[in-house]
Amino acid sequence: MDNRIDLHIHTNFSDGLLSPEQLIEAVRQKKLAAFAITDHDTLKGYQAIRVLLVEGDPKLVSGVELSVSFDQDDVHVLAYCFDPDHEAFNQALRDFQKNRNQRARRMVEKLNDMGVQITFEQVEEGAVGTVIGRPHVAEAITRAGAVPTYESAFARYIGDGKPAYVPKANFSPTEAIDLIHQAGGVAILAHPIIENRIRHLEMLVDLGLDGIEVFHPFHSRADVDRLKHLADRHRLLVSGGSDYHGREGRFGDIGSQKVPLECLEKIETAAQRRRE
Ligand code: AMP
Ligand code: ZN
Ligand code: FE
Ligand code: FE
Repeated sequence: MDNRIDLHIHTNFSDGLLSPEQLIEAVRQKKLAAFAITDHDTLKGYQAIRVLLVEGDPKLVSGVELSVSFDQDDVHVLAYCFDPDHEAFNQALRDFQKNRNQRARRMVEKLNDMGVQITFEQVEEGAVGTVIGRPHVAEAITRAGAVPTYESAFARYIGDGKPAYVPKANFSPTEAIDLIHQAGGVAILAHPIIENRIRHLEMLVDLGLDGIEVFHPFHSRADVDRLKHLADRHRLLVSGGSDYHGREGRFGDIGSQKVPLECLEKIETAAQRRRE
């Protein structure tokens, strides 16, 4: 057993490729000490994996990646070590998913008006019945033969600002951080370098942010150094992971970030302290 961990992994319950069954097999092969499933806005992947674990498997940490809106930005906030059965937390995620489904229906309506004949049911088919995102809409558009490639569905119809695009109704930063804390977890800013989300750090720290994701495939060595410094300066926790999706070449392979187990120990201590 290694002392490396991976705290950022997606399943097909959000926009990853692998089912929980496939994913736990892949994780076992990497010989990690611990891992977290951080699907977007749902715990269903985590819950499915939780019951597949057997003796000798790496430790599974509760996780989720929340979509937060600030100043037109879609900011991702990771939550760890919360109570996965916390009622208010689960209810907030169910409400969020309902919003997501309504948004997908509105995009389908806009597409229909533009002559793209797809149905909401066709979009749902690709989404295992949970968190529906634009990738599922893009796949339905592509399957219907309305565009030659997945990317062109975004370029022509549902990319930011395109005619069939509908924005998400995300959590506010306060809602997300308070919700995570109520459920006994810690809130971590995901991949802060992507689209310069780090510029929101001061605001998030003021609202109670607990840490930042330092190790991520998108981060250069210089980024990692800079983020470690920032974490020190603001007394923030450090986390990291591969952001494995398994498709579209998105981010690293499971375990690729070689995140030290010590990061998790500090996260667990912080969460423990919050609950006392
Ligand atoms: P959503 O959270 O439903 O708005 O979907 C966001 C996801 O759509 C991103 O994580 C990407 O996977 C995908 N996406 C957004 N814009 C593009 C684009 N221009 N080309 C390809 N994929 C995109
Ligand atoms: Zn994702
Ligand atoms: Fe993200
Ligand atoms: Fe992610």
